[in-house]
Amino acid sequence: MLRNKVQPKRRWLDLAPGDPVIVVAGKDKGKHGEVLRTLPDKHKIVVKGVNILKRHTKAGQSRGGVNVAQGGVVDFEAPLDYSNVMLLCPSCSKPTRTKHTVLESGARALVCRHCGEPYERVRKTEAQ
Ligand SMILES: [Zn+2]
Repeated sequence: MLRNKVQPKRRWLDLAPGDPVIVVAGKDKGKHGEVLRTLPDKHKIVVKGVNILKRHTKAGQSRGGVNVAQGGVVDFEAPLDYSNVMLLCPSCSKPTRTKHTVLESGARALVCRHCGEPYERVRKTEAQ
């Protein structure tokens, strides 16, 4: 993917852990799963069951956030680019782009482009 300018660092991605997403590009195209982690600085996201790689490790290594006490082959979900996934709208069950809105309560929410339903998540409180 070419980018002709460096994108500004974003404070948060539209997706958060627990969101249902569908993969729209890459080798796991068509798969869907749940967001496990987001890596906003790298513009990447980890989706459950998607982009599984095997990592051959020696004992005691720690890479990619996976601590390995024993050596061996470990299956893990590799981060994929955030732009390769789309939110799966719970209201109309379509992969959707989202737009932002501010609810009456003042909370930020995403709105499905297809059906206009606000997508409210139970945002887990975690420092990211
Ligand atoms: Zn929708």
